[in-house]
Amino acid sequence: MIATATPSLSEAIRELKREKNALILAHYYQLPEIQDAADMVGDSLQMAQYAANSEADILVVAGVCFMAETAKILNPSRKVLLPETMAGCSLADSCSADEFRMFIRQYPGSPVVSYINCSAEIKAMSDLVCTSNAVKIINSIKTDKPILFAPDINLGKYLIKQTGRNLILWPGSCVVHESFSIGKILDLHWLYPEAKFIAHPESESHILGIASYIGSTKGMIEFVKKSPSQKFIVATEAGILHQMKKEVPSKTLLPAPTFEDNACACSECPYMKMNTLEKLYQCLLTEEPQVQVNEPVRKKAEGALRKMLALSN
Ligand code: 13P
Ligand code: SF4
Repeated sequence: MIATATPSLSEAIRELKREKNALILAHYYQLPEIQDAADMVGDSLQMAQYAANSEADILVVAGVCFMAETAKILNPSRKVLLPETMAGCSLADSCSADEFRMFIRQYPGSPVVSYINCSAEIKAMSDLVCTSNAVKIINSIKTDKPILFAPDINLGKYLIKQTGRNLILWPGSCVVHESFSIGKILDLHWLYPEAKFIAHPESESHILGIASYIGSTKGMIEFVKKSPSQKFIVATEAGILHQMKKEVPSKTLLPAPTFEDNACACSECPYMKMNTLEKLYQCLLTEEPQVQVNEPVRKKAEGALRKMLALSN
């Protein structure tokens, strides 16, 4: 991935932001030039926290649909823009509201926890939302009943191991984090035995089983900063390497290889990468497309999200 900012477009974006009192929130998986144009770059929790505390008139979410919906749920009176409305998420798309309603009806009285990578409707059916704070959120629940967890089955399995709680899991997964090849990772580690292998908990159990560190995108960046090691094999979306390189310019960061990609050994989220600097500029200029969330759904989803934010503080 080449970090190429287009100065004129970046300058025009800066000008529009000033003029319109707008802020850009970008996820670590966005293109480097989008991350560099943003007011904040972070993981899903940081983006939600930033959105919750924002006073801008316009919030532009350079990420995927569920991230923009989260910002709107927390800011009903502000304009929330998403540069590309087709930027979905395989996890969120695996869990439709109708199917999820039928699923939770089978377990009356069971608490429902959803990972933030889901639609506003799923959040509205949840008692609590979680993100990188999932272990803390699950541990905060007092119940004798099983806890229903959706939509990420890999994160769910990791949470069962970490908390020892009885979780019933929705069978969703992330296309990016399921693409890592354990054989190729072990081959790479054989070439660089001194490298620490770090992985995102959306990865499959056999990948997590060989990791020296497991954590959210933000957690992985912090680990690489604090660790005395000089080399890392990084199992998450390749966009994270842009901020990681900025934080640890002297360290070697190797993207974990996937099944498909022999050429660059990197894994990119097709949804995250739908956003471009040009689309970001156009959406600031036209103030479209706006994200809307139906008010009864928004109110219920806000309750579950604010409980998570309070538990994270
Ligand atoms: P975090 O950045 O919250 O770790 O989430 C990763 C992800 O897959 C976002 O879509
Ligand atoms: Fe969804 Fe995975 Fe892409 Fe994140 S990386 S937006 S979880 S498909």
